[in-house]
Amino acid sequence: MTLDTPPPDYTPATGAFAETLRGLLPEAAFRDLDARYLEESRGRWAGQGGLLLAPGATEEVATIVRHAAEHRVAVVPYGGGTGLVGGQVSADLPVPVILSLERMTRVRRVDPVENALTVEAGVILQQVQEVAAEADRLFPLTIAAQGSARIGGILSTNAGGVNVLRYGNARDLCLGLEAVLPDGSVLHGLSPLRKNNTGYDLRHLLIGAEGTLGIITAATLKLWPRPARMGAAMMTVRDPQAALDLLNLARDRIGEGVSAFELIGRTGLAFLAETMPDVRLPLGQPEWSVLIDLGLGGAGEPTAALEDLFVAAEAAGLVSDGVIAQSEAQRQDFWHLRESIPEGNRRIGAVSSHDISVPTAAIPEFIRAGTGVIAGLGDFRINCFGHVGDGNLHYNVFPAPGQDRADHVDERDAIKSAVHDLVHRHGGSVSAEHGVGRLKVGDLERYVDPTKLAAMRVIKSALDPAGIMNPGAVLRR
Ligand SMILES: Cc1cc2nc3c(=O)[nH]c(=O)nc-3n(C[C@H](O)[C@H](O)[C@H](O)COP(=O)(O)OP(=O)(O)OC[C@H]3O[C@@H](n4cnc5c(N)ncnc54)[C@H](O)[C@@H]3O)c2cc1C
Repeated sequence: MTLDTPPPDYTPATGAFAETLRGLLPEAAFRDLDARYLEESRGRWAGQGGLLLAPGATEEVATIVRHAAEHRVAVVPYGGGTGLVGGQVSADLPVPVILSLERMTRVRRVDPVENALTVEAGVILQQVQEVAAEADRLFPLTIAAQGSARIGGILSTNAGGVNVLRYGNARDLCLGLEAVLPDGSVLHGLSPLRKNNTGYDLRHLLIGAEGTLGIITAATLKLWPRPARMGAAMMTVRDPQAALDLLNLARDRIGEGVSAFELIGRTGLAFLAETMPDVRLPLGQPEWSVLIDLGLGGAGEPTAALEDLFVAAEAAGLVSDGVIAQSEAQRQDFWHLRESIPEGNRRIGAVSSHDISVPTAAIPEFIRAGTGVIAGLGDFRINCFGHVGDGNLHYNVFPAPGQDRADHVDERDAIKSAVHDLVHRHGGSVSAEHGVGRLKVGDLERYVDPTKLAAMRVIKSALDPAGIMNPGAVLRR
């Protein structure tokens, strides 16, 4: 395989380029660029400018991309701007097109019989959930940013969230895609088919490509039956191994009804008590606890199932305390606690945050070894929490009480490398659900299989020979 990297000589999207587009697109596609398109939530990248375009239809996207390819203008796709790895913001391109999907918000087809829903890429995740619910169906992908993240961004980052355990990630929930490829041609792949073995599945190249192989303009999504009854419990577990044993016990007894299973460490609860005292902590601040969410159909009764589970788990020495939600409001309280942990982290200020995954069986040993590795680097606090049911941990390192993250800037790289080396040794991934973006380009080069990386570069240069699609994201430019 050969690497054919184009030289970095992008044309700025100014002057004649912008003028020609004015003749080809409706006025509504031209937007004033405001600061939010140049920022990202962690403040690591700041865009220097751009031509903000918000096309209203797939053909308009195709016109922009075709024109950009002809003139070698860089295109940075923009969804809800909630990405956490800098994929949606470029700091060093000479005036790129920032292509926002915010005007492509049509629901094209709701099909409860096929259990499928076709929406344009700019539809916000929460609206997808609402449209599905109106059709008495469930779109299960759930993340804290669902009020802003758009379906094109969700698919482009292959987002995960709390229900991956039961329903899979964005990739598993996508049946078909429409996309504009880097030469401006339109890929017509919207389909509710579950079986379609007609050669390479380009859908799976575009999902998780973070805008480097084209622009997703619409998607057919997979819907599920809505569970008749939901329930939740929080339980204090002996240690991370007991959490995994409890997960297996829950799946043995309740089967597919286990929708989410979240591990919560004491540090996260202590941060909530300190920074968000309104958040109720029903179990106090145990060293380790879990939040279990159930969705049952038929005659299944979540409260009874959770009581049975607690009794069996207590007898097995896995849990020592627990509380079962007695109402939907209480269930929402438990989730509010869990969803507030990232905000608590933000208020304390992490030195280094890691979105990682390891095989579930390796989680206890990874956590044990991680404590030793971080202790060897200095006096830090670890907040380890996350979607333990699918091996995805958010492993964040904070300064000791009374210190500030700014005191440890010089140590950030060493901490990050130590954590990622440990993940690699445990057979894990240094990007579980947030993607690579611009943040983890070096990690990709360091940790992924060289054959995979070489194949990725060949695919990129074959589909995008001018290198216009989101240059510098995922692959170095
Ligand atoms: C509070 C909070 C909680 C979060 N929780 C989770 C979580 O639990 N799980 C999780 O996986 N992520 C989570 N995220 C990360 C983020 O929400 C997801 O990555 C989300 O999928 C990004 O969607 P977006 O529309 O905001 O995309 P953006 O941030 O706009 O873009 C993300 C990437 O996709 C590209 N892109 C956007 N739209 C398109 C398109 N139509 N075609 C091609 N490329 C495109 C961009 O160029 C960029 O590379 C969280 C973020 C926040 C702020």
